Amino acid sequence: MLANWRWLKRQGGAAACGAAIKANGYGLGSGEVMRRLLAAGCRDFFVSNWAEAMALEPLIGEGVSLSVLHGVREEDMAVALASRARPVLCTEGQIARWKEAGGGLCDVMVDTGMNRLGLDWRGDVSAQVAGLEVATLLSHLASADEDVPLSQVQLERFSALRGAVRAARYSLSNSAGICLGAAYAFDMTRPGIALYGGVPRTEAAGRIGQVVFPEAQVLQRRRVRAGDTIGYNATHRAAADMEIAVVNLGYADGYLRGFSGRGSMTVGDRHLPVVGRVSMDLTAVDVSGLPEVAEGDWLGVDYALAEAAAVSGLSQYELLTGLGARFDRIWR
Ligand SMILES: *Cc1c(COP(=O)(O)O)cnc(C)c1O
Repeated sequence: MLANWRWLKRQGGAAACGAAIKANGYGLGSGEVMRRLLAAGCRDFFVSNWAEAMALEPLIGEGVSLSVLHGVREEDMAVALASRARPVLCTEGQIARWKEAGGGLCDVMVDTGMNRLGLDWRGDVSAQVAGLEVATLLSHLASADEDVPLSQVQLERFSALRGAVRAARYSLSNSAGICLGAAYAFDMTRPGIALYGGVPRTEAAGRIGQVVFPEAQVLQRRRVRAGDTIGYNATHRAAADMEIAVVNLGYADGYLRGFSGRGSMTVGDRHLPVVGRVSMDLTAVDVSGLPEVAEGDWLGVDYALAEAAAVSGLSQYELLTGLGARFDRIWR
């Protein structure tokens, strides 16, 4: 993960490189992720909401910023005012609420074409933020993972905002935006998925390394006779006698049914195809010709994110954020 962060930082030139650690650090554990990135020199972190921020509050030391992307709802105010984290104000209502409470340092999100959160770039953003102490003015790219004109359009709109709206820093790029070149970096980038091994664009292929390596344990090894079927709804019929291993991994762990008959697991350098449907807590793989695979053995799950996304029909983001609470998250 730290090698990925360093590569992403280099792509941004002189810009600071922050980290999106929302959704429990994309499923890896936000505390563990933040501690490691802090040690590597990362100083700017982003979560979605105040519950996520509260869990990280003890890690917000001197010179460290934790920004809350959803801003402040009425029911967040007590927590937000007491916290060292700061809101990314997204609406005029949030700005009024923050000013009224004398909230102090904040970030502001401007929408430059995604039509998700943020003040409309066409509005008088400078007037809207008057009276705020803005640490970072942010916008977010909608389609940086594709080659479409919208990214350049958003870049131009954001560049104009930089000239018109006063803030200490300006920030536009997520992981894919970083791959579009240093022109997109401004003062700070905010990668998420690529930190955790996601490959957002071909520029990052071979540069970003896999971070998450799920493993599952063999509960039973069994022989399946020619003509017999495997699993729910009998979707796999054995053409010949075969051997399978049933492992303790299923869709309740985030190994969703898109891997049924398509995913694979590994032992050594051998890839074992998933056979039949993934069930809630169990999945079968073909271990024919591999007598060494036995009850109690651990198998690697093939989970290189770009490839696993293609196999399963899930996005690289879903593959990470879906990983369930039953995994032990072991850092090596
Ligand atoms: C999630 C998020 C990011 C990180 O995006 P990735 O595509 O995971 O790199 C950056 N900025 C904002 C506003 C986000 O919501």
